[in-house]
Amino acid sequence: MEDNGGGLSSRGRFLMIETLFTQALGLVAPWQVEEVIFKPESGRIDFQVRFGAAIHACPACGAAAQPLHDRLARSWRHLDFFQFEAHLHAEVPRVACAGCGKVTQIAVPWAREGSRFTLLFEALTLMLAPTMPVLAAGRLLRVRSRRLWRVINHHVSQARVPNSPQSPSCSR
Ligand SMILES: [Zn+2]
Repeated sequence: MEDNGGGLSSRGRFLMIETLFTQALGLVAPWQVEEVIFKPESGRIDFQVRFGAAIHACPACGAAAQPLHDRLARSWRHLDFFQFEAHLHAEVPRVACAGCGKVTQIAVPWAREGSRFTLLFEALTLMLAPTMPVLAAGRLLRVRSRRLWRVINHHVSQARVPNSPQSPSCSR
């Protein structure tokens, strides 16, 4: 039955949904949402994100247009979409560089290296942190408070990195 999609085939509807979520997640080419798996009964929505290019600059030395070596599957918790827990999944390419000879994983634009959360999720965590105990924030976000502490500690330590030769003085 193709009569309830404004003339779109079911494939056309899927493409429209993927394009919409690619935009909603702020992804830019060559990253795009390849598949949206919505499971209302389990309260979650999963996005499979794809890197649609065969080359990338080497993250280690910056050499342009290096071939991809392989891809490693990773997942990130994202902000909820309404009451549904959202997760991003992607096979993140590693570049095999002819310039420096290193195999290096490329950075994804939605998360910092090593984090299991997207940057937007971390931003929400940092916004909540001063307003409530981390334990309560963890309950609200349905994340173990230990994992939230890791995010908070990372950003606090980043903020403490001195960016000028002048160290903070303890003037009285
Ligand atoms: Zn290189």
